[in-house]
Amino acid sequence: TNSYSLAVLPGDGIGPEVVACALEVLDAAEARYGFATRRETLAAGANHYLATGELFDAVEAPLRAHDAILFGSMGDPRVTPGILERGFILEMRQRFQQAANVRPVRLYPGVPTPISGLTPERCELVIVRENTEGAYVGRGSTVHAGTAHAVAMQESLNTRAGIERVVDFSFRLALGRRRKLTLVHKTNILVAAGQLWQQVVAEVSASYPEVEVDYVHVDAMCFHLPLTPERFDVVVTDNLFGDIITDLGAVIQGGLGVATSANLNLDGTAPSMFEAIHGSAPDIAGTGTANPAGAILSLALLLGHLGEGEAARAVEAATVEVLGGLPALAGPDMGATTAELGSRIATIVREGRADAALVPDSL
Ligand code: NAD
Ligand code: MN
Repeated sequence: TNSYSLAVLPGDGIGPEVVACALEVLDAAEARYGFATRRETLAAGANHYLATGELFDAVEAPLRAHDAILFGSMGDPRVTPGILERGFILEMRQRFQQAANVRPVRLYPGVPTPISGLTPERCELVIVRENTEGAYVGRGSTVHAGTAHAVAMQESLNTRAGIERVVDFSFRLALGRRRKLTLVHKTNILVAAGQLWQQVVAEVSASYPEVEVDYVHVDAMCFHLPLTPERFDVVVTDNLFGDIITDLGAVIQGGLGVATSANLNLDGTAPSMFEAIHGSAPDIAGTGTANPAGAILSLALLLGHLGEGEAARAVEAATVEVLGGLPALAGPDMGATTAELGSRIATIVREGRADAALVPDSL
């Protein structure tokens, strides 16, 4: 049987609660689909930082030894904002070169969306966000700080190699889907970076003649995406624009209770990481009202990445079946606790009752 090694980072707040659900579903998937995982749970996040002062350095070596990383969430009001974001999450993306942040935007049957009239058939796209460059690693400097003449400069770093790897990945993804790639940028204003992105897309597209290429400005994307998501198949964009439009995508598909992501290392030099998009939700931690679907759907992405496609699809379909029957996607009106939802999904997977027709076949 296939065996994989998995690092688990439950983190803070609801992280451990939703990750426990994902691991129960993983047990069920292993029993049903005949593969195995060795799992190592590592302490990291706000609580661990407050107790030890340790950030990413302390777990880098053990994480590296694994095939993939399942991540809960990190954050706590007692930790100054930025410490964990930069000291752990950005650090992991950099050192493990997790160059592609992949966010499926799928409206699932039965899941409410704020966009009136939108149907699942019209909303099945993937946003690929460049994850290691752009404004998030560009230099910044301030002169005359603290005075009436303060000037802050913030740069955006864009390398040909960095753009090329994520664009090539996006074309390959499109090839296995509806064969359409849309570049999102602001090339009319951010001319230097915009031209490099456009050049690379044009060059790489020569290797993928079957894939149709489109371009949309990021501001225009903010109305096209909610109103005509059917226009998009694979969307590729830079780090900052991607951060923003993926949250818009999450809203369209039903919000924090559903949306999920993969942070993929594209060259095989380090493990990829999989996480729901929500944070540690300290306001509801311990109440059993967190929706575990985002974390369980991130497990589905992880299984697909490891090559366990059948199990991945079953986990996604079982999650959709349970989600579609809920009176509310989050909060006290969800109709079941976090743990109950996890067990329901696990049972469907274990008994092989997941209806694969509930989900589109290719990511
Ligand atoms: P959040 O996502 O934690 O919570 C936002 C709101 O959504 C809260 O009201 C919360 O109760 C609710 N919510 C979130 N996930 C939910 C779920 N699964 N089910 C039901 N309700 C859910 O965002 P925030 O409040 O801005 O941040 C809280 C902490 O999380 C901060 O420390 C922040 O830095 C951190 N954070 C971490 C990550 C990450 O680990 N990748 C991402 C975002 C925020
Ligand atoms: Mn964000």
